[in-house]
Amino acid sequence: MTTLGIDLGATHVRAGLVDRDGRLSDVTRQVLPPGPAARLDAVRAVLAHYPEAAAVGLAVAGTVRDGVLTWSANLGLSDVDFAAELGRPVAVINDARAAGLAEARFGAGAGAATVLLVTVGTGLGGALVTGGRPHEGTGHAGEVGHLVLDAGGPPCRCGNHGCWEQLAGGVALNRTGAGLGPDGGGTPGAARLAAAAAAGQPRAVAALARHAREFARGLDSLCAVLAPHTVVLGGGLVARSGPIREAYLAAARTLRWHTGPVRPARLGDDAGVIGAALAANLS
Ligand SMILES: [Zn+2]
Repeated sequence: MTTLGIDLGATHVRAGLVDRDGRLSDVTRQVLPPGPAARLDAVRAVLAHYPEAAAVGLAVAGTVRDGVLTWSANLGLSDVDFAAELGRPVAVINDARAAGLAEARFGAGAGAATVLLVTVGTGLGGALVTGGRPHEGTGHAGEVGHLVLDAGGPPCRCGNHGCWEQLAGGVALNRTGAGLGPDGGGTPGAARLAAAAAAGQPRAVAALARHAREFARGLDSLCAVLAPHTVVLGGGLVARSGPIREAYLAAARTLRWHTGPVRPARLGDDAGVIGAALAANLS
């Protein structure tokens, strides 16, 4: 029996069939046309492509509560009951929780009773998986990037100041990289910071070390509260090897409140699809 996993992101939809051992087959990926209406049409097209799927799971970049996408800035959607819209049972799960579920079952957290996934992208996201189940709470569980670490820090899109992602997320790395001077090529700040640090430029090396310390500070606070057995680091800025991944992984291995394993995520872009399929089989 195979399950269809669908990962609906801001710019593309990715899908595939997932077997009991987490193996993916018949993977498809489509770029989404702009506009919220195109999202549902894209999911309908995916369902039509996989008529053999016995069950369907859908990972979405947004707040999910009790199977309903309540709000997504990335998708431009709010209060969407996909099962009702699509006329068939669909297990809907937040994309970070899907990735956490997949890493906990088949990836870097396999075998651990409690897994904390933290993703380093533009922001910082995350998921806590306990006993094979992701914690959803009232829907926004895993918004770790909004842990306030410096009340006098930079403003955040959430309305607070000094949120963790403003100090250690991609948004912070981009800001620092852009401050290194003109590059002329439009390279994102985080990539410029990484290149300058790799070249041994002292200002860049010091700035990256400072961001890594801020990253470890927030992660330590999370570990004090959540006490995960294994910490998994994912997201675009950690997925690529280089100074950012090395600095963040090294900093994450110097915590007071976590002496267990800290591992880079293993499933990459497949985590959302696999986690969505796993969500369809949670009872
Ligand atoms: Zn915030």
